Amino acid sequence: MTEINYDDNNIFARILRHELNADVIFENEHVLVFQDKFPQARVHLLAIPKGRYRSFDDFSAHAGQEEIVSFFQAIGDSARHAGLTHGGYRLVSNCGKNAGQEVPHFHMHILGGEALGPIIS
Ligand code: 5GP
Repeated sequence: MTEINYDDNNIFARILRHELNADVIFENEHVLVFQDKFPQARVHLLAIPKGRYRSFDDFSAHAGQEEIVSFFQAIGDSARHAGLTHGGYRLVSNCGKNAGQEVPHFHMHILGGEALGPIIS
């Protein structure tokens, strides 16, 4: 397997090591879901795998089936738990520099709790 050039000092790696605080919504052996510190919607959660993946590109290429299933189940469970199912919500993952990804640890944004604008205008 190709070695992933992962930055162990990125903010989300530090949250996983409990060096930085986060408001955790859900956690299991593969996944952590927590509140975004600078919310872009009334509800803004971030779901991250615990593995060392820089982006969706790494995750889709290298994660095991159990990690992938667990990740998407945690997103659905967290959205339901946050009461987002009825009104609906948006999942977004910025992958790499063209998408403006700022934190180089794969994450999915879970946005909802209000009507969201069009994703592309
Ligand atoms: P990106 O631009 O990489 O897709 O998203 C990074 C997200 O991380 C942004 O929504 C930003 O608000 C969030 N964020 C940045 N620093 C922190 C932090 O220290 N704690 C938490 N919980 N979220 C952060």
